[in-house]
Amino acid sequence: MGDCLFCKIVKKEIETEIIFENKNIVAFRDINPQAPVHILLIPKIHFSTLNDLTSGDIKLAGSLIYTAAKLAKTEGIADQGYRTGFNCNKWGGQTVYHIHLHLLGGRKFGWPPG
Ligand code: AMP
Ligand code: ZN
Repeated sequence: MGDCLFCKIVKKEIETEIIFENKNIVAFRDINPQAPVHILLIPKIHFSTLNDLTSGDIKLAGSLIYTAAKLAKTEGIADQGYRTGFNCNKWGGQTVYHIHLHLLGGRKFGWPPG
């Protein structure tokens, strides 16, 4: 996916503050943070939306969630609480079509989300 913004972040063609990386995933700070802590976790391989995941990707999806929980601890937001979420397609509010898990914290969130 040559023109995908987040694939470019994976390939280090775009500067970001990368805060975690392993063989399969990268985590970096959102450029337009909606909370004091706003991190995006992405798989290194391209999936446009959550709808594109298959059963073979369950471990990868789990590792995004597990890593978000680990980062919540290192960011100091685990005890007070935080919000995670994948936006999917237009009605879900997705704007970048490379799946990403939002990790937000450092303030209180309402429910239901707007
Ligand atoms: P979504 O609306 O769920 O698709 O979220 C996309 C997120 O990507 C938004 O919160 C944007 O602020 C964020 N974003 C867009 N471009 C960049 C970038 N170059 N670096 C970091 N975050 C970005
Ligand atoms: Zn991509």
